[in-house]
Amino acid sequence: MNKAQIKALQKKTVNEDQLAFDHLSKSEQKACFGFCDQYKQFLDRAKTEREAVREIIELAEKQGFTDIDKHLASASKRKSVPRKVYKTFKDKCVALAVLGKDNLESGTRIIASHIDSPRLDLKQNPLYEDLDLGLLKTHYYGGIRKYQWLAIPLALHGTILNSKGERIEITIGEDPDDPVFTVSDLLPHLAGKLQNNKKLSEVFDAEKLNLIAGSLPLGEPSTKDRFMLNILSILNSKYNIVEEDLISAEIEAVPAGSARDIGFDRSMIGAYGQDDRVCAYTSLMALLDTTTRPEKTGICFFFDKEEIGSEGNTGAKSVFIEDFISDLLVLNKEAADNRTLRKVLIASQCLSADVNAAMDPDYKEVHEKLNAAKLGHGICMTKFTGVGGKSGSSDASAEFVGIVREIFNQKKVIWQTGELGKTDQGGGGTVAKFMAQLGMDVLDCGPALLSMHAPFEISSKPDVYMTYKGYKAFFS
Ligand code: MN
Ligand code: MN
Repeated sequence: MNKAQIKALQKKTVNEDQLAFDHLSKSEQKACFGFCDQYKQFLDRAKTEREAVREIIELAEKQGFTDIDKHLASASKRKSVPRKVYKTFKDKCVALAVLGKDNLESGTRIIASHIDSPRLDLKQNPLYEDLDLGLLKTHYYGGIRKYQWLAIPLALHGTILNSKGERIEITIGEDPDDPVFTVSDLLPHLAGKLQNNKKLSEVFDAEKLNLIAGSLPLGEPSTKDRFMLNILSILNSKYNIVEEDLISAEIEAVPAGSARDIGFDRSMIGAYGQDDRVCAYTSLMALLDTTTRPEKTGICFFFDKEEIGSEGNTGAKSVFIEDFISDLLVLNKEAADNRTLRKVLIASQCLSADVNAAMDPDYKEVHEKLNAAKLGHGICMTKFTGVGGKSGSSDASAEFVGIVREIFNQKKVIWQTGELGKTDQGGGGTVAKFMAQLGMDVLDCGPALLSMHAPFEISSKPDVYMTYKGYKAFFS
């Protein structure tokens, strides 16, 4: 073979890694940065699962989506079927659908993401005082590296039910004028003897993740627990709550402040909760931007509790999936019996929309570079997750990977594949296996992040845009 032939052969046969930015036209670059500005606003407004549900509904209603529950009673009598609907579940998860031309029984296209993120939850009896400080005990939620949560400003977001069953929503620490909370850390001068010779897993104690919440007393020095009392007095006058109300509450300490651009070129986004709100937002926008009626019904699920194993009645293991699709069957005037529901699920195709870990220039050794995702290289297909020999993973079929790959290639979506670290290095899971249990084809698909699960996670703007473009292609 001559030089030209070898070059031609190379072009034809070798799979080259693509940088997403190289494939963005000038107008797409502009669209990409504009899209990411909107995404940052979403991140700021949706720091908890409940806030994400509210934000998703607000954005969906603006695009003409309505609550499916309003239509179900009259579904059989209606002449026209509402095409764009949503359903919330216990205020912590939500689903959206755009009904397609085909019957549901022929299968749907589903994108499933999660809207919970690692954080510090207040314990049910959080309040105590020590050394003239008012403090709040926390119990961490999801996989955190504990040291990352020390000595940074934290905001409290939450829902409190008082004794009358009234719901009180609080957000303290996001407005620049708000106070914030923080977990103190040991000064380097005194850390040596206590920490230097310990294993990392033993240095940071979960019971030391206590929030500093006040330092002024109420009453005379003889008043019992007067630092606690001062905090309770403020809570009572501001929110009309008493200590017992904190038991029927979910208050989450999350990093305070807004999403930011990273880098001289502003090409990346640094923010809390991008796992997995980057997939929530991009899949939401992909469905909201479906203007022409698709062949197959498009569905977005936004789940809670992924970070603790998709448990509970708001996680992907709950009956929410079946419940919503049954409602869609009623709405679309199809049989809504168990057998039909099962057929819909089995005929459906699903992208489990979740993030992967981008290879970190400082920690390349935990990745296997042929199969590691890279920041800026587009949406990442993750055929399997799991730990130690794919255990606990839904390993996508070659057939379904082939289908998704073709969709992306046709629509000029820049994509890559990735594994979460070297084999036997560690691992993780997503909602994929719970979707797959229902019989549908499932593939994990989302952007790769640096500093995943940290209070400040990093995404690439071209990746965010390619993820949106990829999900849109999947729906169309
Ligand atoms: Mn995730
Ligand atoms: Mn996660």
